Amino acid sequence: MLGFDGNPSQLCTNRLCLVALLVCSVGAACSQSQQQYDLVINGGRVIDPETKLDAVRSVGIVGDRIAKVSEQPLKGTKVIDATGLVVSPGFIDLHQHDQSLAAYRLKALDGVTSALEMESGVPDFAKFVAVREGKALINYGATASQEAARVLAFGDTLATSVMGEAGSIDDPPSGPATNNVASDEQIARQVEFLHKGLAAGALGVGIGLEYTPGATRLEIIRLFQEAAKWHRPVFVHDRSVGALEPGSSVEAVGEMVAASAVSGAPVHIVHINSSCIRFVRDCLTMIEGARARGLDVTTEAYPYGAGMTSIASALFNPGWKERRSISYDAVEIPETGERLTQARFDALHGSGKATYVLIHMNPDSIVDLAATSPLTMIASDGLSSHPRQAGTYSRVLARYVREQKSLSMIDAIRKMSLMPAQRLETVTASAHRKGRLQEGADADIVVFDPATVADKATYRAPLTPSVGMKHVVVRGTPIIRDGQVIDGVTPGKAIMADPPAKP
Ligand SMILES: [Zn+2]
Repeated sequence: MLGFDGNPSQLCTNRLCLVALLVCSVGAACSQSQQQYDLVINGGRVIDPETKLDAVRSVGIVGDRIAKVSEQPLKGTKVIDATGLVVSPGFIDLHQHDQSLAAYRLKALDGVTSALEMESGVPDFAKFVAVREGKALINYGATASQEAARVLAFGDTLATSVMGEAGSIDDPPSGPATNNVASDEQIARQVEFLHKGLAAGALGVGIGLEYTPGATRLEIIRLFQEAAKWHRPVFVHDRSVGALEPGSSVEAVGEMVAASAVSGAPVHIVHINSSCIRFVRDCLTMIEGARARGLDVTTEAYPYGAGMTSIASALFNPGWKERRSISYDAVEIPETGERLTQARFDALHGSGKATYVLIHMNPDSIVDLAATSPLTMIASDGLSSHPRQAGTYSRVLARYVREQKSLSMIDAIRKMSLMPAQRLETVTASAHRKGRLQEGADADIVVFDPATVADKATYRAPLTPSVGMKHVVVRGTPIIRDGQVIDGVTPGKAIMADPPAKP
């Protein structure tokens, strides 16, 4: 492979290239091969899930956009030889909690060019954007956080995790702010808080309902109505999980479908694999039915059997074992592999400290069903102590495309790029340029080796980067070359809701 700067066509000086470009612009017989692009990716298997292009092509980039997709090799100031490699739109992760700069490196090595915190959201969207500006390897974005809104409405303070006050929040410890019914005034304060985030450009409202079980159905409808006023979607971790009524997975999905229907706000149900467990097929059938009747309901899955959350959170309120048909030994401390006993659980849950634990709850059959359904987009739910942060996208390519052959390459790419872009299109017109490999699209591109791409992160070593992502480009700027992150480049930008900022 030639890699950058190895193509003889680049031996022109800038002036000569300019001359070639000028000749090209005035000469009738000019061929596209004379044009000089800023960056070209030559001879790869180019896949665009929207037009269904899947053929050997060359891609020419000018500035931050794709300018040409050609059957002929192109000439560029920088050249990537993609022979034998897949050239795909960069992956868009709608569910990435860890928004640290270190996490962005791991995401890039997994093929992700945009990582957004849509489930929990962020407490201060303007600040979230400001502290990342000019520093991020990949694109970022977030919703306004209902969990933060509720904690503040109850007069508590927020525990923030990364990049100071503007990072994603830890799920709040179980207590009055999560478990009690809110007064009208406390609901009004939440709405006001969300209003501020939405006015600043937040991409929707993120609701962690299982983490705030005190929220009534009416409270949640009011929050959906606020999102609807702004024409923004709601991203939600459902109220409850499992077989037992009341509180089954089916009831929880029904609540979200109803809230969307009565408010008009689109709803995206996060991680259907862990929220619906062995009822995944039933939940997907409900979502399919809602969509067939014109409702904008979408969902996602991550390709791992264990979930992860804070042991102090309200997810572990009494009943968590019965609802999931699991016991204490399904809960694991990721750093040591220790499985919990009742005594150990009681001590950790009661401490109020946000210790993140693995919860083993899904067999492979459920994970595979959720990950390969045509209804689900892939989203990682990325946290630093779970392998899904570093491995999700490569795992889909390795496990489902190469090994099981249960997903075609183009379908896998659709679930990881086009579908999440489409989820964002009602919020920002810029999303029409994402998740596509077409002329005019943003040059967010991943070039990977389909024979070797693989996740390497494990439950014991969750921060091990994936392998096989040979080149990654964000907004026209290479950020990974020959599998290595390039130091000192920060092309990532905020993805924000379009104005008007007023409902
Ligand atoms: Zn969740």
